[in-house]
Amino acid sequence: MAAPDLSLTGVPLAVRPGRRLQVGSSPRSGSVVGPLDAEDVTALLTLAVHGPAASSTAAGARRAAALLRELTASGAVSPGRLAAGVGRLSPGPTSRWAPDAVAWAAFDPGGPPGPERLAGRRRQQVAVVGAGRTGAGLAAVLSAAGVGRVVVEDPGLVEEADLSPLGTRAEHVGARRGSAAEAVAAEVAVPAPGRRAGAARSGTDAAGPGADLVVLVDHHAARSAAAQRLLAEDVPHLSVVVRDTDALVGPLVVPGRTACLRCLDLHRTDADPGWPLALDQLSGTGAGTRQEETATATLLAGLVALQVLAHLDGLTPPARGATLEVLLPEGVVQVRRWVPHPECGCVDLPLVVVPAG
Ligand SMILES: [Zn+2]
Repeated sequence: MAAPDLSLTGVPLAVRPGRRLQVGSSPRSGSVVGPLDAEDVTALLTLAVHGPAASSTAAGARRAAALLRELTASGAVSPGRLAAGVGRLSPGPTSRWAPDAVAWAAFDPGGPPGPERLAGRRRQQVAVVGAGRTGAGLAAVLSAAGVGRVVVEDPGLVEEADLSPLGTRAEHVGARRGSAAEAVAAEVAVPAPGRRAGAARSGTDAAGPGADLVVLVDHHAARSAAAQRLLAEDVPHLSVVVRDTDALVGPLVVPGRTACLRCLDLHRTDADPGWPLALDQLSGTGAGTRQEETATATLLAGLVALQVLAHLDGLTPPARGATLEVLLPEGVVQVRRWVPHPECGCVDLPLVVVPAG
């Protein structure tokens, strides 16, 4: 068996004292192997930097392949990372996705190789409701990450205050926010093989029908009533709330499985009876600024996109059943888990039988 092209997997290697080799750069996924023969260390490094074609002898290439098999069998190297499949991505514009293939092979080594992961994302649709800086930037990031169809719903008009590095630009001022954000997303989409860049599908469908996930971007408080339709239609949805000194990413609601937005409001009301009255005002249009600071919106677009992509890829992102609370301006993220509220009824809670008498 030929050695996989380690130079295309992006797995970093570092020589350590005692002819040991560090595989990976993070304590979360890295390990140190050895001691190895000096020739084996050289063979692996050659493979990592230059690929299998650089091996000076057939015996050297075979030895490197055998070593990789040993390292994989021992668990030191994840087979998934070696199967990033960058070499199978189509040449040309599709190859722009190679860093994503390498990164997700490290994030999710048990998942599909890069080309299959990209194909899976191409089949999926995400709707984003609210196209300020965060929503428009998120739409662009998802499109660039391979999501096949990104629908953006926002009937407002693009203003100067909506412009951002990831989202809409000066030329979009005065255009519909939703369609302008979709246009930006289409420009950066990973083109399907044989299709030109910027020709990704986008659309103006109402959020919900056909969507694999809907992202609701709100200001100051989540409009849980707006999410009830998605709950009824069994559409997973992710709440994002930009507040004045923090932002909430989550919960990602899987209808019937995890706490919904109404559950959160009921929990908040238990702790603060004045919450419903405040909620009505905070989620209304007169609650103050709805503008989003540049760095905050950029951070949120990336953080939300990681949750969405993990969900689409079949993983369990941390925002599922939880809120990621991003403190501003620190950027520190705290996780708060939420359980279904017993009075909501959105999740069948276990039946507790109390003996009569
Ligand atoms: Zn609920």
